[in-house]
Parts: sequence; structure tokens; C-alpha cells
Amino acid sequence: MEFRYYMPVKTFFGRNCIEKNSREFMLLGEKALIVTGKISAEKNGSLADVKKTLESVKIPYAHYNRIKPNPSVEDVREASLFARESGADFIIGIGGGSPLDAAKAIAILAVNDIDDDDLYSGIYKNRPLPIAAIPTTAGTGSEVTPYSILTYSRISNKKSIGCDSIFPAAAFLDPVYTATLSSETTINTAVDALSHAIEGYLSARSTDVIMPYALESIRLIGECIPELKEIKVSDGAREKLLYASMLAGIVIAHTGTTAVHAMGYPLTYHRNIDHGRANGLLLYHYLKFLEPSIEKVNHIINAIGMKSVDEFGKEIDKLLGDKEMLSESELELFTKTAMTAKNISNTVPLPEEKDIRKIFEKSFKR
Ligand code: NAP
Ligand code: FE
Repeated sequence: MEFRYYMPVKTFFGRNCIEKNSREFMLLGEKALIVTGKISAEKNGSLADVKKTLESVKIPYAHYNRIKPNPSVEDVREASLFARESGADFIIGIGGGSPLDAAKAIAILAVNDIDDDDLYSGIYKNRPLPIAAIPTTAGTGSEVTPYSILTYSRISNKKSIGCDSIFPAAAFLDPVYTATLSSETTINTAVDALSHAIEGYLSARSTDVIMPYALESIRLIGECIPELKEIKVSDGAREKLLYASMLAGIVIAHTGTTAVHAMGYPLTYHRNIDHGRANGLLLYHYLKFLEPSIEKVNHIINAIGMKSVDEFGKEIDKLLGDKEMLSESELELFTKTAMTAKNISNTVPLPEEKDIRKIFEKSFKR
């Protein structure tokens, strides 16, 4: 047996976990920059809870609320200027994966004058500012990963920064914040988490320590699938989904993602298809591609509580609804783009360009 296990995020889970652990913020610094998207952090109560808690421990803060979904390198550069001007010495990201990933890049850029290549290098002269992460979607697991995925116009794609120094120092997971999610975002983010757990389990970098986390995450999400089809998702299911997405985050922190994410990025960049949805649309034919040679596909189907990969495909279809149409030139471009992504190399067996094209072809209407 051989593995590396590293999970340095002090993680708090449960109702009111921010307020109950207010002193943790005092360990991070003396002035906070809160990073959020436009509206949701106000709507779901997380921003008010953070502000109240910081006030209770007398930590001053500034707030930057201009992070858009799929943040770009330009977006985080602008936010990092705000961070510098604010004098913050730690960052609190609140939101879905977009504000959390932005918070990590801002933590780097607030203390390093570097160009884009160096931003993506993962090696920084000055240690990034400490980060607290508060997820309000149950999907990306970014609160426990060392990744910041940014839209990068220079390569016309999304690209991941990955380095241990951007692991959040602390994560606070309160399922109540996810109660305001629309049915569509609940589904898309749950499917993203499922994709992380499945890809991580199958990754070339999967390890003995991490595989039980992946199967447990898959099992929990499987239990929630019937509810995901309903308009209203219960509090119990929301708690399970947030826990499952955190487990899946711990998984990909060790294994990386694989072909599905590599293929999903151009769908988001060029067609603005939501990140989780893009992965979900690809999952069935990815599993069909692996099924003949990879026994582990059966473990996944068992864990999710289904009988076959085909049943899995039907259930995912029901969740995601009508598929988008891809043109011939898009198929060509997306296949080429996916082949250049670094996570493709984690896929076992390693797909050739023709395999990736076939998965795209079968997953979308033409
Ligand atoms: P998101 O882009 O962060 O947010 C999507 C939408 O959901 C936004 O409009 C947001 O509104 C809203 N929202 C967030 N929380 C809400 C809540 N509690 N109630 C109502 N609305 C809410 O979505 P995401 O799927 O969580 O994150 C996707 C990003 O994460 C992508 O860029 C993806 O590449 C990245 N990602 C990162 C990792 C990693 O390991 N770091 C892994 C997978 C994916 P506001 O804008 O108003 O907040
Ligand atoms: Fe993802």
C-alpha cells in the first residue's frame, strides 16, 4: 500500500457552527475581507451570521460582493486590489464554488505581485493569506480542496490552480444556508458532488484511504435522488447533500478529477452550461466507456443503489432534463480542448481523442 493523505482544513459542521466557533476567526487574523457573490449570501443568512460573529469577537471587516459565477482571472485581480486597500490579513469566502475559489485566488494575489503564469504555478514567494470557507451550495467541496478554478480567457477555457497553500485554514458547513437554493441549482450542485466522488473513486490517483469516502458520498447522494426530483428538498436531505459534497471534496483533494471535468470546462466556457450540469450530462457515457474494462464501475452502481449503468443514465436524465445540442464545430473544438486539460491524465483507461469525441457525441443532441 502506498498513499499520501493530507487534509489540513479545520472543519466545523452543523447548525450555527459559525456562531458556536466564533473564536476560530481570531486565529486567522486581525482584519477580514468577506468575499461573496451578488445576492445569495444576504438571502440565505450566512453573511449576517458572519458579520455578527466577527463583531462579537471584535474583528473589523470589509466586504467585496462582486464575484460572478465562474470567476475569471481578471475578476480576482480586481478583487485583490480591493483586498489590499482594505488592509485585510485574512479572507472569508461565502457562497458556492465561485466565491470560494475566488477567495483562494484573492488570498494569493493580495500578497504577491505576479503574472498569470505565476498565478497558475502554485509556487508563491509570499504565503497566501489564511482563508475561511463557508459553502452555501452542496456541490463543489471547495471548502476542503486546494483548488481554485478560474476562467482564463488567454486559453479560452477554465483552468485550475492547485497547491496546498490555498487549502482553507477553516471551513464552516451549516446546511441551513442551502435551504434557499433553487431546485435547479440544488440538482446541478448535487450532480457536481456526485461527479467528484465518482471520478475520484476511478481516478488513477485514487487511494485506499480515500475510496471509502467516495463510496459513502455516492451512497448518500443516491439516497437523495428521489427527493431531488421533488420541488421541495427536506432539511434532512440538505444536510446529507452538504456532508456528501464535503466528502467528495476530500476525495478530489487527493485524486484530482478526470475526463468528465476536463470535458465539462469547455461546455461552461463556450456554452455557459452550468458546471455541475455539464459534468452530469457526461457521466453516463463516461461510465459506459469505462464499464467493459473497469470493475470499480460496479462498486459505484452498487453504492448509489442502482442495478446497472443504464439505470443510472436514466435517473440522471430525469434530473437534468432536456439536453443541449452541439454542432460539429463545437464537438471538434471541445474534444481538442478537453484533451489539453491536465485532469485527462487521471482517467483510467487513458482515453484517446476519438473516445472523448464519442462521449461528447453520445451525451448531447446533434
Ligand atoms: P456558484 O457559481 O458559486 O453559484 C451559482 C449560483 O448559485 C449563483 O447565482 C449564486 O448566487 C447562487 N447561490 C449560491 N448559494 C446559494 C444559496 N444558498 N441560495 C440561493 N442561491 C445560491 O455555483 P457552484 O456550482 O457552487 O460553483 C461552481 C464553481 O465552482 C465553478 O467555477 C466550478 O469550476 C468551481 N468548482 C470548484 C471546485 C474546487 O475544488 N475548488 C470543484 C468543483 C467546482 P450569488 O452569485 O448571488 O452568490
Ligand atoms: Fe466540479
